[in-house]
Amino acid sequence: MSKIDKFDGTQYRFLSNFHTCKVIYKGVEYMHTEGAFQAQKTLDESLKLDIAKLSASESKKACGRHGLKLKDGTYIKVDLRPDWEEVKDQIMYEVVKAKFEQNPDLKERLLATGDVELIEGNTWHDNYWGDCTCSRCAKKVGGNHLGKILMRVREELKND
Ligand SMILES: [Zn+2]
Repeated sequence: MSKIDKFDGTQYRFLSNFHTCKVIYKGVEYMHTEGAFQAQKTLDESLKLDIAKLSASESKKACGRHGLKLKDGTYIKVDLRPDWEEVKDQIMYEVVKAKFEQNPDLKERLLATGDVELIEGNTWHDNYWGDCTCSRCAKKVGGNHLGKILMRVREELKND
C-alpha cells in the first residue's frame, strides 16, 4: 500500500477531523478537531465554548455561511474573523498537531502508517483540504492540505 486515500472505516477514521477524541486548543476542550478548528473562525471567546459542545457536523454547520439553529431554539452563527484565509492553514496544523500530541494512542496509529501518502479523499467537493473523487471533480487536482498537514505532523512526531 502506497497511500491511504479515505479517512474512514475502523482503520483510518482516526485521521478524520470528525473522529471523536478530546483535544484542548487554546485553553478550550473540544470533542474533535473539527470543533477546535471551526471555533477559531470566531474571535468571540464565549461563542467558542458553545461551539465546543457541538458534534463535528454541527460545528461545521454552525460556523458555515448559514449558521445553525439548535433544538432548543438557540441560533449559532459566527462572524468570520477578517484574517481567516491567512490563518486557517496554520490553525489546522496546530489543532491536528494538538490532537496527536494529546492522544498517545492516536499518535501511535499515525506513526504506524509509516511513509504512505495520506490523502483526504472525499465526495463533498472539498478540493482544498482534500481531493474530491466525484465525476464532476475528477479532473481537478485536490490541494489535499489536510493530508499534507497530517504527513507533516507524522514526520515531526517521528523525530520527537
Ligand atoms: Zn466533487
